[in-house]
Amino acid sequence: MVDGRKSGSLYTRYGLNPTITSLETKLAALEGAEAAWAFCSGMAAETALFLTHGRRGIVCLGDAYGGTLELLAAQLPLLGIPTHLLLGSDMSRLDDVMSRGVGLVFFETPTNPTLEIFDVHALASLAHAHGALVAIDNTFASPVNQQPLALGADLVVHSCTKYLGGHSDLTAGAMMGAKELLAPAWNWRKNLGTTIAPEIAALLARSIRTLPVRVRRQNATAQAIAEAMARHSRIAQVLYPGLPDFPGHALAKKQMSGFGGMLTIEVKGGGEAATRVADRLELFALAPSLGGVESLVTQPCTTTHHGLPPEERTRRGISDAMLRLSVGLEDTEDLIADLNQALG
Ligand SMILES: *Cc1c(COP(=O)(O)O)cnc(C)c1O
Repeated sequence: MVDGRKSGSLYTRYGLNPTITSLETKLAALEGAEAAWAFCSGMAAETALFLTHGRRGIVCLGDAYGGTLELLAAQLPLLGIPTHLLLGSDMSRLDDVMSRGVGLVFFETPTNPTLEIFDVHALASLAHAHGALVAIDNTFASPVNQQPLALGADLVVHSCTKYLGGHSDLTAGAMMGAKELLAPAWNWRKNLGTTIAPEIAALLARSIRTLPVRVRRQNATAQAIAEAMARHSRIAQVLYPGLPDFPGHALAKKQMSGFGGMLTIEVKGGGEAATRVADRLELFALAPSLGGVESLVTQPCTTTHHGLPPEERTRRGISDAMLRLSVGLEDTEDLIADLNQALG
């Protein structure tokens, strides 16, 4: 069992626990993958991914989750792992960076909080031409709206804390892909001690049962809110892949089957006006995280992207007047009414 020659249950940190392996069968099926490993957090899944397949060098495209950026920019280089962070606007440098021997191309699509869309198929072809693997953090889209492996990616990671868990009551992560690519991550998970706990695995397996219904409803509500906000006189801009005039709309339509439950609105009147709107919202709770049944609002410049200098936020297209919304399962009309009263 320890060598993987015989199946069966063994010490839980090894992941050889029936509740964990049953969850992993479901996680693999969600992404159309041969196999999946479940972790105690999304960051644990990413750490295992980077240590397994990123040691020759990692390029991260576009904006990414704050913890991911910190790991890539500040911590993996301490271990001698070369990392390169390229924004969408720096894509002309990608070929040059790749030719320096990068082993892993990593990105999120849509990104946080500007919902930038990256072309999974095109970037996978480019990476493969350079002998590199492609891994996607599919947390924002969820497997219901986007299937990166079918689009040509090699690996997918998730923060299951978000849509897969869906109720803001658990922390977990996952990595999905071919058995051959997952096998070397097993020892990292085992020895870093980042296996999911069986109790959390059971809770996550139960949550996944309602994932498609939740996400489809969240897609529809987010679309309705985006359309209502796009018409609102106090809104300067709405970033949502489902809006026809959104820059990434055509690409999103090509590679996604739904546009997701995340959107960003930019309030007229600057950062303080946006803070006042966030404070006045009643149904949207002011809190980080996303993907749960309750709608949430965050102001990126005071929360998720607070650590960045203002010039860096500007370079990333993040203005102080932006509010990021995670749409939950409340009544659509109630959510729109709440935004209207807060803006009014
Ligand atoms: C939350 C999040 C993570 C980190 O996940 P944890 O479960 O909190 O470790 C990674 N990527 C994205 C896109 C996230 O939203």
